[in-house]
Amino acid sequence: MATMIPFFEQVNLNFDKAAQFTKHSDGLLQQIKICNSVYHMTFPIKKDDGTIETIHAWRAEHSHHKLPTKGGIRYSTLVNEDEVMALAALMTYKCAIVDVPFGGAKGGVQIDRKQYSPSELERITRRYTYELIQKNFIGPGIDVPAPDFGTGEREMAWILDTYKTMTPEKLDVAACVTGKPIAEEGVHGRQEATGQGVYFGLQEVCRSAEDMKSLGLQPGLAGQSIAVQGFGNVGYHAAKFLQEGGALIVGIAEQTGAIHNPKGLDVEKVFSHRNETGSILNFPGAITLQNPADVLELECDILIPAALENQITHENADRIKAKIIAEAANGPTTFEANESLSKRGVMIIPDTYLNAGGVTVSYFEWLRNLSHVRFGRLGKRFEESVHTNMLKVIEKITGKELTQAEMQQLAHGPDEVDLVNSGLEDTMIVAYNQIRETQKQNREEIDLRTAAFINAINIIATSYMELGIFP
Ligand code: GLU
Repeated sequence: MATMIPFFEQVNLNFDKAAQFTKHSDGLLQQIKICNSVYHMTFPIKKDDGTIETIHAWRAEHSHHKLPTKGGIRYSTLVNEDEVMALAALMTYKCAIVDVPFGGAKGGVQIDRKQYSPSELERITRRYTYELIQKNFIGPGIDVPAPDFGTGEREMAWILDTYKTMTPEKLDVAACVTGKPIAEEGVHGRQEATGQGVYFGLQEVCRSAEDMKSLGLQPGLAGQSIAVQGFGNVGYHAAKFLQEGGALIVGIAEQTGAIHNPKGLDVEKVFSHRNETGSILNFPGAITLQNPADVLELECDILIPAALENQITHENADRIKAKIIAEAANGPTTFEANESLSKRGVMIIPDTYLNAGGVTVSYFEWLRNLSHVRFGRLGKRFEESVHTNMLKVIEKITGKELTQAEMQQLAHGPDEVDLVNSGLEDTMIVAYNQIRETQKQNREEIDLRTAAFINAINIIATSYMELGIFP
């Protein structure tokens, strides 16, 4: 097997490829590309049996052109310095592409979370947070973590509580981390945000009859056959929303294996099956594939890698049958595979755009935390009464009466989740059209990833140039 190009280098190869289409100086491009700060920490934790173990962990802040920096925290045995730097860099570009005013960061703890009890995980998370506080690597205006592979609401609540305990005088403490439970100042819609963003993004891509025709596909999501690699928070929600939007989910993979049914799998039923049996395998009516990577090679219109990086490589790229690869994971396609697939006419919707729904809604959560009020709390009833009065006037003029149910549906003022989804949908639509526009300006000679990188580089470069360089 050929050795894999290190992940951060792959991100930078994509950067360099796009930088050729910009007019910025080498010095500025170098500053954008480089990872500004990396903190590698080691700390001891006491296991439940009394033994002591040393834990390796990192936090990388890739770019400080905007503050705070932002990005998730990953718990995985594969975590290393190169990976967190690469993922932090992707966060910088991602934020720029979807107009989220943050620099990029990423954290990682090198553990297999399944090997630790909840109380051990709590000690690891609290100690990690303590280390970040000590080195000024966390704070509402400094660096704001979020969930990533292997972490979720529970870990974010522990981070908040540790930060709160250590900085009791701060009014904006809740904004030190996003992806928190609702009861701990989280925002409605954050948990499903990345998957929902994948759905909104794909919906926008598939809307163009012309683009779909050139791929040999029908416009719209309805009837598209989709295979999903990864059934964690992102994969599950993406599959669920896409199925609700009329797509056919023909394959699902998780760590232990994959299932396949060309007639379609019921996502909610697969989810319940896993809850009952501990695995998606042996789902009634589906063919079980022992090797989870086989899902990548299934006959389908759209392939969604929603697990980890480096899944689509020069080794399997030729066997991929999908016409669209929708990158819900970070870095799932290697640089080499991207080149050969693009040459073959496969459309790759890049991670830096497609999975940005998570950080977009994290931004909304951060804003909610700084304003200390739930979105919609002030306006909901007022809007409802304006709508109701308007409907009553319409009833009077037309002489027709609406049923109570119709009245309620039409007058409905927005709840927090309605506003969050509206902001997310708009973000995904606007960003895709900006990327597509850049592709058109370059006479369709560049792929979507390069177009997305060009947009990100231009935005960050403008920010650096307008700010000036601090002496
Ligand atoms: N971990 C997510 C990502 O890779 C979310 C980051 C965030 O919300 O800050 O985009």
